[in-house]
Amino acid sequence: MIFLPFLAPGHMLPMVDMARLFSSHGVTVTIITTTFNAAQFLKAIDKDINSGHKIAIHTVELPSEETTLPQGTENFTTISSLAMAGNLFRAMTKLQPQIEQFIKERSPHCIVSDMYFPWTVDLALSLGIPRLVFHGCSYFALCCMDTIKRYAPHTKVTGEAQSFLIPGLPDEIEIMASQLPDYVRTPGGYTLLLDHIREADKRSFGVLVNSFYELETAYADHYTNVTGNKAWHIGPLHQSIKRDTADKAERGNEVHVVEHGCLTWLNCKKPNSVLYVSFGSLTHFTSAQLLEIAFGLEASGYPFIWVVRKEETMPLEGDEMWLPEGFEERMMENEMGLIIRGWAPQMLILEHPSIGGFVTHCGWNSTLESVTAGVPMITWPLAAEQFYNEKLISKVLKIGAEVGVEEWHPLIQAHGYLVTRKKIEKAVTQLMGVNEEAKERRKRTEELGEMAKRAVEEGGSSHVNITSLLNKLRLMQCHVQPVG
Ligand code: UDP
Repeated sequence: MIFLPFLAPGHMLPMVDMARLFSSHGVTVTIITTTFNAAQFLKAIDKDINSGHKIAIHTVELPSEETTLPQGTENFTTISSLAMAGNLFRAMTKLQPQIEQFIKERSPHCIVSDMYFPWTVDLALSLGIPRLVFHGCSYFALCCMDTIKRYAPHTKVTGEAQSFLIPGLPDEIEIMASQLPDYVRTPGGYTLLLDHIREADKRSFGVLVNSFYELETAYADHYTNVTGNKAWHIGPLHQSIKRDTADKAERGNEVHVVEHGCLTWLNCKKPNSVLYVSFGSLTHFTSAQLLEIAFGLEASGYPFIWVVRKEETMPLEGDEMWLPEGFEERMMENEMGLIIRGWAPQMLILEHPSIGGFVTHCGWNSTLESVTAGVPMITWPLAAEQFYNEKLISKVLKIGAEVGVEEWHPLIQAHGYLVTRKKIEKAVTQLMGVNEEAKERRKRTEELGEMAKRAVEEGGSSHVNITSLLNKLRLMQCHVQPVG
């Protein structure tokens, strides 16, 4: 099987986990990516090879000279403007001939492609092999996207601030028009790409979903019934492979755990007492927003670990300071807070028993990692499909408290919308408190965490699913002939 991940951690991390999972089931696997991206997971793959798995990486070179991208810009984490994002997209598109040639020479039995490579469907069809597609999001979000595309309910409201019911879902879910992506409200080039992706999904063998049946039962069924696409949920992927501490610490980065005093710091804290604050791999906040977060966290009085992306700690010219005077020293002295600049070992942090809550942007990986660790969330969606995930977390599963964001913004750009310190303090107190509502929320999350772990164990729903998919694929090898 060939795996072709997209060049951003939110898609690449689960897809590499997925490739490792398939190879642990005896499949011969090749992951295709660029040299810079390969370096992020080389060690883990080497370990898998040493333990007998048939897994390899094939590297391709991004044609950066044609796209004016600075050397080494091979992942969306290093992108700082929408123009650069467009360039990286174009460079990625130019990989097609290299990748096609490699795949044709290798003649695999199956291609697992990220959604952002819709052309792989034609390649797979011409080779007479199945193409499986990976979107990286929840069934819930897939259902929301599908129904909003079909019925365009947002076109029937009078203003951006108006809420409407997302039609046809198993639950009554309301959303504000302003919480929908701009490419839904005002169709453009990206909307056309998404249409092309949907069309490629239809012609594919099926969809692989990083989720588990017990988490989104109604939506897993709804998705396949409404779209007619076959789908296999095989997650949570980060939990589905056996990993030691180093493997967890290095997931997505080469940083080793010993470099992170945060775990030692957490060891001295009471169970469920610390808040983890992180907004994924692509968020750009303004200094004004970072200041509000700092004030809000301090006012709440709960200890915290706060991950700030390196780019955000270097304010643009004319921008304000991003931390209140003496904040970091004060937090360190009182042992109240720790700031991580750059990449945090998120899996290890969330699994630590002292972590009692997660302020999250509702990226699907972060959401699943929080659920698996049994950690309830404060939902702070920003971009992509994150507002849908917020509804799943807070309204359907009831394992999160909303901070109250009302406006969607494009990824990459810093957000003008400000969540005030008061709102942050209120949400933290709500989540970390010990009232009945907070206790119920925690209990529900812990129960789901147990289900998540069981799902990927032998006999669990995701384990059964991957086994039956592999059986189907193996049978197909005997029957399918190339087209044309
Ligand atoms: N992540 C991490 N350390 C960080 C930031 C992110 O390990 O400092 C990981 C996180 O555990 C998750 C992924 O990066 O697996 C981010 O994916 P998600 O879908 O949550 O958000 P995105 O970055 O795509 O917005």
